Amino acid sequence: MKKNILIILLGINIFISCNSTKSISIKDVENSQNIEETTKIITELASDKYEGRYPGTKTYDDAVNFVESFLKENNIKPFYNNCYKDTLLVNNKVSYNIVGLIGKKRKNKEYILLGAHLDHLGKSRNRFDSVYNGANDNASGVTAILQIAKELNKHKFKQNIIIALFTGEEEGLIGSEHLAKRLKKEGIKLKYVLNIDMIGTPPSTTLKNKVYITGYKKSNCASEINKTLNKELVYFWKEESFFGVFYMSDNYPFYKTFKIPSHTISTFNFDNYKQFHKTDDEIKQLDIQNINDIINSLTFSIYKLLANNIDIKNTQVQNK
Ligand SMILES: [Zn+2]
Repeated sequence: MKKNILIILLGINIFISCNSTKSISIKDVENSQNIEETTKIITELASDKYEGRYPGTKTYDDAVNFVESFLKENNIKPFYNNCYKDTLLVNNKVSYNIVGLIGKKRKNKEYILLGAHLDHLGKSRNRFDSVYNGANDNASGVTAILQIAKELNKHKFKQNIIIALFTGEEEGLIGSEHLAKRLKKEGIKLKYVLNIDMIGTPPSTTLKNKVYITGYKKSNCASEINKTLNKELVYFWKEESFFGVFYMSDNYPFYKTFKIPSHTISTFNFDNYKQFHKTDDEIKQLDIQNINDIINSLTFSIYKLLANNIDIKNTQVQNK
């Protein structure tokens, strides 16, 4: 009985949230991500030609161009008047966050933000391997955000979605801090942030197709994601506060600036990826099937959070 009511409610919701020209069913969202395309994007971003995507270099800007072309090809609009770039200085060099928009800018619109950092460590002095490819860190997260954005852009939701690829994460969350302050100043009504950083390998052999989120206990986000999927995609990593990961990625400036739920989704636990911040963080180290499975689960879950207007809210008093 309960199940039937749920199905009817779900049906009504889909009817309201999708307009007639775009009648894509919820079934189409399930398993919408194809592994060939995921492989293609992540291989491109982690390739030697981008020389480790260091902010302020020509090769970082080439990576920016690649991401902008992807957004353009998939009809995801720039957030700022015909321009995807949010320009700032990283270590006194000009660099860019890339910011796209799903939905229409209207007064009083609510927004969510999906993000990942595009930058990495650049080149090394190692004469055998001179590029920090950052395949896991964070070509994996950028690929996930691009794939999720492409699918979500086929649907209509009450809330707008900001797609943000950050610069200067490795230099101290500089890009995300810049964008958080800018959006705050512009009066953007941001409700919550999901950032993806390093989903390249499973946390352990027994934890395939699972992620943790930083700040698990700070909001109802983990439990709401799991509810949308009827399974535990997001598990509680009990060492997260020991490592302080909540403060180590691009979710944190948004938490600090907006006082909203803001989390990083990851699989990296300092134990499952010895290539972390080494030049052999390369595509061949990654479990691409697992990455694609996670992207699929996240696409479906975020779709349902938005289509069903699920309220993501803080459950803990802000202290830091
Ligand atoms: Zn890193």
